[in-house]
Amino acid sequence: MSIHSTILIVEDDPLIGKFMSRAVEDAGFRCMIAETAKDCRILFFSEMPDLVLLDLGLPDDDGLNLLKEMKDVRESIPVIIVSARERENEKVKALDMGADDYVTKPFGIFELMARIRTALRHSNRAASQTLSDEDAVFQHKGLTMDISKHQVRLNGEEIHLTGKEFRILELLFRHKGKVLTYSWLMQQIWGDFIPADNQILRVNMANIRRKLKENIEEPVYIKTELGVGYRMPEEE
Ligand code: CA
Repeated sequence: MSIHSTILIVEDDPLIGKFMSRAVEDAGFRCMIAETAKDCRILFFSEMPDLVLLDLGLPDDDGLNLLKEMKDVRESIPVIIVSARERENEKVKALDMGADDYVTKPFGIFELMARIRTALRHSNRAASQTLSDEDAVFQHKGLTMDISKHQVRLNGEEIHLTGKEFRILELLFRHKGKVLTYSWLMQQIWGDFIPADNQILRVNMANIRRKLKENIEEPVYIKTELGVGYRMPEEE
C-alpha cells in the first residue's frame, strides 16, 4: 500500500519539511511539500494525496482551518498533526476535529514513519469496512480478546472485565497504534451521558491496567499520551 501512496507535507519550516520529505521518500512514498496554507489548498485539491502531514502554525492561515476544509471535502483523508510544543492545546482540538494522530516537534524518523503507517493502515481498513467485524479476535503480546465470546485472556488465563472496561479495551484494539483522545473515548463509551470530567475514564483505565498487570513505568498494552488520551502501541 505504501509504495504508491502520496503524502502531502504542509510545513513552513524548510528544514523540518526537508527532514520529513527525505524520510517519507526513503520509505518509498511519493511526496509533495506545501509551505503555506494557500499551497496546501492547491495541492490537496489537484493531487488528491493519500495522507497529509499538517503543521498547525503556518504563515498565512491557521492549520485548524485547513484541517476542517480537508475533512469537509474528504472525511476519510488521514491527517497527522505536526505540532510544536507551545501549541499543545490545539493538538487535542485537532484530534477532536478529526485529525488521525500527531507528532510533537522534535520527533524522530521512526516515530514519524510509525504514525504514517498506522494512519494509512486504518484508512485502508476503514475503506474495506472490516473494522466493524463483530467476531474479531485481537491479539497483542500475551493478551487476547475475543469479541463474540466476550472473553479476554492474559497469557492464557481468563481475566474478567466489566462491560465498560471491555468496550474500552476493544476500542484500543480496534484502533491499535492510534491515539484515542479522552473526549472521543468518553463519547464512545458514555455517549449522550458524558460525565463532566475524565475521572471516570481514568478510573476505568486504572482498573484495566491493574487487571492486565501493566507495569506503569513501561506499559505494554496501554500507553498514556499526556494531556491527550491513550494508545495501544504497535508491535515492533
Ligand atoms: Ca510552522
